[in-house]
Amino acid sequence: MSHSSHSSTASPTGRTTHPRSAVARLLSHTRAHARAGAIPRALRRTSLVAATLLTLCATAEADAVLFENVRIFDGTGADLTPPMNVLVEDGLIATISAEPVDADGAERIAGDGRVLMPGLIDAHWHTMLASVTPMEALGDVSYNAIVAADEATATLMRGFTTVRDVGGPAFGLKRAIDEGLVQGPRIYPSGAMITTTSGHGDFRQVTELPRGLGDAHSRMEVVGGSMLADSPDEVRLRVREQFMLGATQIKLTAGGGVSSPHSPIDVTTFTPDELRAAVEIADNWGTYVTVHAFTIDAIEGAIEAGVKCIEHGFLMDDATAQAIAEHGIWLSPQPLPEALRLGFPEGSVQRAKADEVWPGIDRTYELAKTYNIKTAFGTDVLFSRELARSQGAILASLVRWYTPAEALAMATGTNAELLALSGPRNPYPGKLGVVEEGAFADLLLVDGNPLEDIALIADPENSFKIIMKDGVIEKNTLTD
Ligand SMILES: [Zn+2]
Repeated sequence: MSHSSHSSTASPTGRTTHPRSAVARLLSHTRAHARAGAIPRALRRTSLVAATLLTLCATAEADAVLFENVRIFDGTGADLTPPMNVLVEDGLIATISAEPVDADGAERIAGDGRVLMPGLIDAHWHTMLASVTPMEALGDVSYNAIVAADEATATLMRGFTTVRDVGGPAFGLKRAIDEGLVQGPRIYPSGAMITTTSGHGDFRQVTELPRGLGDAHSRMEVVGGSMLADSPDEVRLRVREQFMLGATQIKLTAGGGVSSPHSPIDVTTFTPDELRAAVEIADNWGTYVTVHAFTIDAIEGAIEAGVKCIEHGFLMDDATAQAIAEHGIWLSPQPLPEALRLGFPEGSVQRAKADEVWPGIDRTYELAKTYNIKTAFGTDVLFSRELARSQGAILASLVRWYTPAEALAMATGTNAELLALSGPRNPYPGKLGVVEEGAFADLLLVDGNPLEDIALIADPENSFKIIMKDGVIEKNTLTD
């Protein structure tokens, strides 16, 4: 059993790491079997079992899985294929064929005509902030890490096999998932959001001002949620720190936001020099900057500075949309649910800001279509375990503007193209988001046809009979 093809990658610090070592993969298999009752719970994670299985697997080829008789949504097209057989070996899709596939020793899965599709990708996710309250986010880091690990498993069980994390201290959880200690998605971390004083992401109280110079850090900085930067030099420092920690891309907040208490929507935060400083360092690291931006001014400033992706963009106009398209810049909007707006208390500053931004959601999707902008899909769930549960439903709500096939292609093949912008910082070099030979085996076996019934995506518990990540079966309820 060989994992050499994709189990070793150079980390941003130049070290060679093993995000999915042979033993980690085995432990994961052990877990999968344990769930199926084959191995007593108490023995799941002992190295003795892993070592024994390692020996057995050398001959048994336990890594191979053969999906028989499945119709494929490949992550890019508009239709399903005729019935196919798909062989997964060593974490990759090895063979796709309409003919019988010779796979001695492979675990066989009878697809019975069900749909096989790529695992879903959320391009705007906050691994560490999705399920805690704002108060908790600034509190006990070990509690928050456990909540986030639990949420990561739930995220994976909703069929999201990869997330782009656009703010929060996700590095440790990413590592634990890659090591097989926790079930969760692949994470492309940005680390702390970089914000200005009073920018979106500055969650301090006014009683904490004035900020000290030198080593004085606020609580949100200590926990790694967001970092303040008020000069080009400070931007360079904070951006480099995120790369040292393992960031795959950098997130700046270029204008005001809804949830932060002291950042009016109309205010443009970073100066052109500060934005360019971030872009320059990201460029030095071979990757890119994405910015939180609603207004025309914030978006246009970001474009001029060389930013490659705009988050939200909800207050853009035709000219801005045209500029985004002409520069080949990505737009990462979210079909934010109405319930989220109504969740802000009436009369609050946040509610007033939400009321201003929400009407722009529909207009922005229309502009993205009109100007043929490269458009990613994300949910931006923050501080709500309940909303996190509707991650699939939020994706399904894209049918307000797109066909089901277009929506699902956006959340798979298209989102994967955005992730690949991280270049040499990509922790999972290889093809994601598609069902094709040589791609990572991140796969969902769906009980029904989501191209005809997008609601299946909103009900992952019943719809996704098998969830596979990196060739490992993370969920299998086919036999239930
Ligand atoms: Zn966000």
